[in-house]
Amino acid sequence: MQPRSILITGASSGIGAALAACYAGPGMTLHLGGRDRRRLSQVVDRCRLLGAAAIGRAVDVTDAAAMARWINDADARAPLDLVIANAGISTVTTGTGDDGPAAVRHVFAVNVDGVLNTVLPALDRIRGRARRPGAWRGQIAIVSSLAGLRGMPGAPAYSASKAAEKAWGEALAVRLAPEGVAVSVVLPGFVDTPMTRGNYFRMPMLWPVDKAARMIRRGLRRRKRRIAFPLPMYLGAWFLNVLPRFVSDWLLARAPAKSKS
Ligand code: NAD
Repeated sequence: MQPRSILITGASSGIGAALAACYAGPGMTLHLGGRDRRRLSQVVDRCRLLGAAAIGRAVDVTDAAAMARWINDADARAPLDLVIANAGISTVTTGTGDDGPAAVRHVFAVNVDGVLNTVLPALDRIRGRARRPGAWRGQIAIVSSLAGLRGMPGAPAYSASKAAEKAWGEALAVRLAPEGVAVSVVLPGFVDTPMTRGNYFRMPMLWPVDKAARMIRRGLRRRKRRIAFPLPMYLGAWFLNVLPRFVSDWLLARAPAKSKS
């Protein structure tokens, strides 16, 4: 069954905005969250032109109470079939570099607490619903990263936060399947978005954002528990984990850092 009511965080740019456009169409209700009202309203307008009932909400994912209010309101308006916890930052986005304590805590607050603040209230609503025999109650997608497969010295806080998202999502997928809740973890490689535009190094296999959104949508339709792309980068990241630790450490020590600072 196709989702008809979808909530997306971080929908005002990049992957979130592309996903919103990818899902927009007649009969679809899109609840779109972001912080930048102007950019968010542009995405909302675009989705409406494509035929969707799109509703924007300026909300910070680190604000647990505001997130719970938004998700409850959205679910009351149109019961959520799919919730995509997409909002995230790297130290390039914040422009601060990975070393300062404030920057490290900020990355964890947005990427980890932000995902918890999205998924926990959504699960409350979805699990509270009656279940038709053989049907899914709802679906959760967590946008992690291939950088979450291994601690990356170029972006320690970012890769650690993405590893936490990934591990939590994988565990929930198994735990909640018997209750009729599907959970997918998305592991993108490099995608051309404002987040990566701050990177000064060459990004192999950089995907256009629309291609990434289509790939995520296809994986979610199949209820894949892991949606990882591009395949060669996924295999490379996997290979790093099976190499002896001293070899992977040696290789990673020579990889470029995520930001200039
Ligand atoms: P982006 O910077 O274009 O989008 C991030 C979105 O999150 C923006 O809409 C931003 O406003 C929102 N956001 C940030 N902090 C927020 C907060 N406190 N409250 C609410 N919204 C907030 O970057 P993107 O590449 O589209 O990133 C989307 C997700 O994809 C992130 O979780 C990122 O880690 C992940 N990802 C991106 C890449 C890539 O190469 N671009 C690779 C792997 C994973």
